[in-house]
Amino acid sequence: MIQCKICNREIQLIISFGKMPIANGFLNAEDFHQEYFFELACGFCEHCKTFQLLHQPDRSQMFHEQYAFYTATSKHMSEHFEVMALNYIQHWLVTQKDPFVVELGSNDGTMLKHFTKRGIRHLGIEASQNVAEIAKKNGVETKCCFFNDTTAKEIQQSYGKADLISVANVHFSNMGEVARGIALLLKDDGIFVFENPYIGNVIQNVAYDQIYDEHSFIFGLNSVSYIFGCEELDVFHVETQETHGGSMRYYLCHKGAHNKRSSVTELLHQENDVLCLNRMEIYRTFAKNCERQKQELVALLKKLKAEGKSVVGYAATAKSTTVLNYCGMGPELIPCIYDTTPIKQGKYSPGMHIPIKPYTIDWYKKVDCAILFAWNHAKEIFDKESEFTKNGGQWILSTSCLQ
Ligand SMILES: [Zn+2]
Repeated sequence: MIQCKICNREIQLIISFGKMPIANGFLNAEDFHQEYFFELACGFCEHCKTFQLLHQPDRSQMFHEQYAFYTATSKHMSEHFEVMALNYIQHWLVTQKDPFVVELGSNDGTMLKHFTKRGIRHLGIEASQNVAEIAKKNGVETKCCFFNDTTAKEIQQSYGKADLISVANVHFSNMGEVARGIALLLKDDGIFVFENPYIGNVIQNVAYDQIYDEHSFIFGLNSVSYIFGCEELDVFHVETQETHGGSMRYYLCHKGAHNKRSSVTELLHQENDVLCLNRMEIYRTFAKNCERQKQELVALLKKLKAEGKSVVGYAATAKSTTVLNYCGMGPELIPCIYDTTPIKQGKYSPGMHIPIKPYTIDWYKKVDCAILFAWNHAKEIFDKESEFTKNGGQWILSTSCLQ
C-alpha cells in the first residue's frame, strides 16, 4: 500500500513516468556512471485532494552545492518577484510598524533584495549553500537550512514573529512540518503567501513536465486548504498568476484573522464543479493524455530526422528532464540543447545525456527545428528569436499545451 504524504491514507497510482534522474542534475561525462535515479510516479489522494509524487527522491541529491537554478538568471522571474515584493509592501506591510518578512526558498535573494533596499527587516531561508551565499553577498540576510517547526522556533527566538511569510515555487516533501512551522512563526494578524504551479493548468494543458523531483506536490485550493487547515490556517484570498505556465497565489492567515474574499469561493466552484479536480477520473484522463502526447512528440522527431532536418533543444529547463526521459529522447533525436545558464553549459542533460551548448547569437543558423522546453516563456522567447522563424525555422513545443 502506498500512503498519501499528506493524510497517510491509501493512495492510487495515476501514472508512472518511469526511471527519472534529478531534474536539475546536469552532469559531466565522468559522472554518468554514478547518476541517481528514482521512479517518477504520481497519485491523487481522494481524501485530501492532493496530487503528489508517490516516491520521494533523496533530498540530498536535489539541493546541494551545485544546484543549478538561480532566480536572477530569469529576467521574467526577476520582474515577477519585484512586482510581488512591491505588492507586499504597498498592500500588506504599509500599516505595520517595523515589519518582519520571511521568505522560504529565498534562492539568490531576488525577491528579498527589494526589502533590503528599503531597510525592511527580512530573513531568507534557503537549503542550497551556493545560492544562499550569492544572496548574502547581495546584502540579503539568509539562513541556510531546511524549514520545519524546529527552525521556525529558532527564527522566532532570534527575530520575533513574522508579519509576512512568502513561499513561491518552493517544494517541500515535509508539508506537515512546514505548515506547523508557519503557524508558529506567523503573527496573529500576519499573512502567509503560498504560490505554486496550479494543478488546474497542469491537468488542462497536459503540462506533465511540471512533474519532477522538486514538485513533490502539485496543489489546488482544495489541497492547500486541507494541508494548512490542519494547523488552523485559512485561505482568505487567491490570485491567478501567469508564471510557470499558470500558477495560483494563496493568501492564508490564522483562522478568522482576515475576511474571506469572494475569490476563494469562486475558485472552489471552478475546481469542484467546472474542472472536477476533486475527482479521480480527471486524473485517469490526464494519464492517457500524457501517453498520447509522448507518442506524438516522438513520432514527430523521428519523422523530422528521417527527412534530414536538423533539430536542437532550446533551454535546458528542469521541465525538459521529465519530457526527455519519459519520451526516451536522447542525442540521436536531439543532438544538443542551447542554454544561457553558464553552470549548465558544457555539461549533459540528466538521464538522456544530451550535450548542453552555450547559447550564441547565431545558434539558429543551421537549425530547421527547435524544441522549446521553456514553453512557459514562449512569448518572450518567440519575440527574442524572431530571426529564427524569419529564416524558416520552426518551433516545436515540448508539451502540446500551446499548440
Ligand atoms: Zn491525502
